[in-house]
Amino acid sequence: MKCLKCGQRACFEIRRHRAAFCQEHLIEHLRTQVERAIKKFKMFLPKDRILVAVSGGKDSLALWDILLDLGYDAEGLYIHLGIGSYSDKSCEMAEKFAALRGATLYTISLKEIFGEGMEYIARKSYKSFCSTCGLIKRYVMNLTAKLGNFDAVATGHNLDDESAALLGNVMHWQVGYLARQAPNMPERGGLARKVKPLCRLTEREMAAYCVVKGIEYILDECPMSEGASSLKYKEALNLLEASSPGTKDQFYLGFLERGQKFFKKVEEEIELKNCLKCGQPTTAEICSFCRQMERIGFDPLALKNAIQEKMSGIE
Ligand code: AMP
Ligand code: ZN
Ligand code: ZN
Repeated sequence: MKCLKCGQRACFEIRRHRAAFCQEHLIEHLRTQVERAIKKFKMFLPKDRILVAVSGGKDSLALWDILLDLGYDAEGLYIHLGIGSYSDKSCEMAEKFAALRGATLYTISLKEIFGEGMEYIARKSYKSFCSTCGLIKRYVMNLTAKLGNFDAVATGHNLDDESAALLGNVMHWQVGYLARQAPNMPERGGLARKVKPLCRLTEREMAAYCVVKGIEYILDECPMSEGASSLKYKEALNLLEASSPGTKDQFYLGFLERGQKFFKKVEEEIELKNCLKCGQPTTAEICSFCRQMERIGFDPLALKNAIQEKMSGIE
């Protein structure tokens, strides 16, 4: 197998593109793919300030690395959820990367703010662990972007994540989610712009990127995600992709180009107002984050104050 670009021995094959690359050209190819996604989906401009949500895993660290290499002003946000040694290890990876690249990383720790982490919060919550964790992560990302005056929040969601989420949404006909599932969710009603620049790249490609670039990342999956239905959808799509390369691309990118328009009307009907407690956008009087925190006996404003403090540099 030869590199598509230089004809030297290739080290990595991308079957859906009928291409193979040497190390140097693999990096170049992946960087170009990210650059194209940013432009195609009009995610942000060269002058914009980007907040990269980093989990310590391969995708978000590779994304941060690529954005820095492309010359973007990209700062990191790590949310320390307090999920045992998994959170400590992943925090270490994010911190190591930031130090090596001389980049700014903001860390928001639930235990520092509330005295308890996700395990306690989820036990007291009436929702599942992953949905409560997701709610908190989205809330922190949005608030940090807003209070820090960032133009967009970038997450490391890749083609595997997005096509699995799409399959799940189709399976259950989640029409609201289908209307909103996009690699670029523009700012609206106080919600920060959210972008997914890796939406055209696979997990396997991001792992290869990190190996070639020598980026250390946490290999373990979150211990709480075991048995999550998204993993089953990923498995199903991997089976289809193995027998017909390009399936995930066609499913996900085809949906964005030709399918999503049929669900858009549902989205327009949702009206956002400001939470009476914290001021964040919500469809109810009090947002679900504030409701969950108050139910547990925590002050939701403690988180807002902590982020505000970090963003104004008065640590
Ligand atoms: P996941 O929901 O774990 O599949 O992660 C999806 C994306 O959310 C990652 O690529 C990151 O961009 C972001 N993310 C996940 N966990 C964290 C975290 N603890 N802190 C900051 N960002 C995170
Ligand atoms: Zn080459
Ligand atoms: Zn609120």
